[in-house]
Order: sequence, then C-alpha cells, then structure tokens
Amino acid sequence: MRHVTILGASGSIGASTLDVIARHPDRFTIHALSGHRRMDILAQRAAASRARVVAVPDAAAADAFRQSWPGGVLPEIRVGVQALADVAADPASDTIVAAIVGAAGLPSVMAAARAGKRILLANKEALVAAGNLFMQAVREHGATLLPIDSEHNAIFQCLPAQHADCSATVPAPGVKRLVLTASGGPFRRFWPEQLEGVTPEQACAHPNWSMGRKISVDSATMVNKGLEVIEAHWLFSMPADRLEVLIHPQSLIHSLVEYDDGSVLAELGNPDMRTPIAQALAYPDRIASGVGLLDLAAAGRLDFEQPDPLRFPCLSLCMQALRAGQAACIALNAANEIAVEAFLAGNLRYTWIARVLEAVLEWQAGLSQVQLGSLEDILEFDKRARHYAGNLGLA
Ligand code: NAD
Ligand code: MG
Repeated sequence: MRHVTILGASGSIGASTLDVIARHPDRFTIHALSGHRRMDILAQRAAASRARVVAVPDAAAADAFRQSWPGGVLPEIRVGVQALADVAADPASDTIVAAIVGAAGLPSVMAAARAGKRILLANKEALVAAGNLFMQAVREHGATLLPIDSEHNAIFQCLPAQHADCSATVPAPGVKRLVLTASGGPFRRFWPEQLEGVTPEQACAHPNWSMGRKISVDSATMVNKGLEVIEAHWLFSMPADRLEVLIHPQSLIHSLVEYDDGSVLAELGNPDMRTPIAQALAYPDRIASGVGLLDLAAAGRLDFEQPDPLRFPCLSLCMQALRAGQAACIALNAANEIAVEAFLAGNLRYTWIARVLEAVLEWQAGLSQVQLGSLEDILEFDKRARHYAGNLGLA
C-alpha cells in the first residue's frame, strides 16, 4: 500500500491523480492534500478521497475549508507555507505528487527530496529554478524521482530499462538525442501580426489537452516546451545540444528517444495525463488509468513540423536561458510567471510576454555573480527577478 500526498490537489493534475488513485483502493491511500485558493474544490476532493490531512495557506483558507466541508470526519488542517513543506516530508506518506504550479512549489518539493520520498514530479518550474540543488538533494537523500510531465514520462519509458533512473549524472549510454514533441498550441497557424490581439480565452483553449490556465498560456507561447527542455536537461543529464523540439499537432506521440544505432523509440497514447500519472504511481507495475486505448486507424495520420522561431520567440529565449545557466533560468521562469499572470488578468498583451522574457534575460546577463548555493539564495533571486519583471511598466 502506498500512502500518497498530493501537493496542489485542487488543480488539474490533482484531479487526474485522484481519479487514477480512486480506481485502485487496494494499492493507494491518500494521506494529505494541499490547495491554495479553491477551498470548495479542496474540501470536496479531501472528503471523496478520505484525506487525513490538508494543507492550506492561511487562517482564512482554513475557515473557508471548514465552511465547504460536506460532512463526516474533518481532516487535520495545517496552515501556512511551512506546513506545506512539513506535509511534504511527513513520515506518514511515502509518495509525493508535486502538482503545484510555479516556483511556489519549490520549498515543498525540496522538502520531499530531503526526506527521501518517492516524488512524482509535475511541477516543472521547481526544477527549472533549482535544477542543480534539487537533483543533488534527490541523490544525497535517496529520493526516487519519477516524471509525470507527459514528455518526460514518455522519455523515461523509452530509456533502456536499466538506465531509467532520474538520479543518474550522465546520459543513458547509447542514447544520442531526446526529442520532445509539442502540439504547437492554439496559435500554431497564426501569423505574428494575428497574435497581437489574442485573448486569455483563446490562449487557454488548448486543442488537445485540458490543463490549468498558466500551463495553457505557456503551451500557446511554447514557454512550456522551453521549460520542458530545461526539465529534460536535469532529469536525464542531457546537454542542451542533444535536446530537440518537434511539433506534432495530434499529441499522440508524447516524445522520442534516438539511439546511436539509428533506432528511435517513442511512447504513444491518447493525450490524457492519467496515463503518465498511472505509469509513475505504479512503476514498475502497470495499472489501469481510465484512459481508452489509442485508435491509430481512427487518428489516420501523424504530422510533424519544425517550430517556427518567428511565431514562437519564447522557445528560443528558453534555450538561451538553459545555455546561460541557472540564474538565467530562474529569471526567465520568474518573469514568465509575472507576465502570464498579467496577461491572464488583461493587463499585458500576449505578444509582450516574449518582450518581458527578453528584458529579464538582458537584465540578468548584466548582473555580476549571483549566489545560488542554497534554497534561500534561489528564492531570493527569484523574488528579485519577479520584482524586475513586474516593474518593467509594459502594457
Ligand atoms: P492548476 O492551476 O490546475 O493547479 C495548480 C495547483 O497549485 C492548485 O492546487 C493550486 O491551489 C496550487 N497552487 C497555486 N499557487 C500556489 C501557491 N502559491 N502555493 C501553493 N499552492 C499553489 O495547474 P495544473 O495544470 O494542475 O499544473 C500543475 C503543475 O503541473 C504545473 O507545474 C504544470 O506545468 C504541470 N503540468 C501540468 C499538466 C496538465 O495537464 N495540467 C501537464 C504536465 C505538467
Ligand atoms: Mg508536458
């Protein structure tokens, strides 16, 4: 029996994880769930999954949780940022699903690594901001890292079985390149001038996947793919020049691994996050996820194209950050969170997201050496970058 804690349980990955877990009461029980805003959703999910503990941000959220509670034994409610990290390290659970959006998930996922947990990682921003420190903690504390981001989960499944290990310090032998597929998002066919007036609703209407709003915007700009390239760099110890992005609009191939002998292995399936989540939850076993089998005859065709740098300038900026190093990755991620939030609130034009990223990378390149040796250093620099991006005065 695995005792699972879901950090970010009120979101989209949280829902998919709870759906898979509910199908296997003989294998999994829920220990704790966390949520940040929608206490009504958290209460409903905590009741349905019989969570013993919930972690919420503040006293007002705790009140809202109690008011939304549908009845039955109330879980223990722990309050505050430290409570979230404590829940992630709680000996009562062995498996932590890291599904918070943004660098806000970093302290709790670090706590899980330091406590040697089995970590199912969705929260890519944490790895982008703290790749080195986080991977080091995973290795030093014997944590097990299993990717549930669909591309990384696909790559994990296509690596040689004896090297399917995200704590290795060198690329798996015989692997030449990793190819991350991307749908191209809702604006794949838009011309740059058409992008000027696009709305948050258009950006969040992803053609294949149903996801939280931030990652939906990131998919439209392809920042998501850029963050995923950085994520793959850390998870698979793969240098930047052996990581490729390929647009595949049907999202049926979730990524590919190219071998030295010319073999290319891919993982295919319907675009539904319950598949990678079930794979990681049960690994190395296989369990039902609720996802239907892929019908290739009905799909009919698989298309591929190179990403167009004019339509997707953010992808090149992410690659630039990866090559520039950790401070650039932190700055880019922080600025992107600020820019996406402003865009979703109607305060920033879509096309200016790339300009914010460009500006923050220029700012970072001009700084003298930044200290990034500890979690506190990283959080401090993340804050500085957010401050810089927030004060650019763009509209
Ligand atoms: P979401 O917005 O639906 O859910 C985010 C969760 O994080 C919620 O539970 C929310 O309460 C919590 N949260 C938000 N801000 C927080 C804060 N400051 N402190 C603590 N908790 C906070 O997002 P999602 O789509 O479920 O994505 C979650 C993560 O998984 C992201 O990093 C995303 O990139 C990654 N991911 C998502 C998908 C997907 O299909 N949704 C696929 C791959 C990877
Ligand atoms: Mg992904």
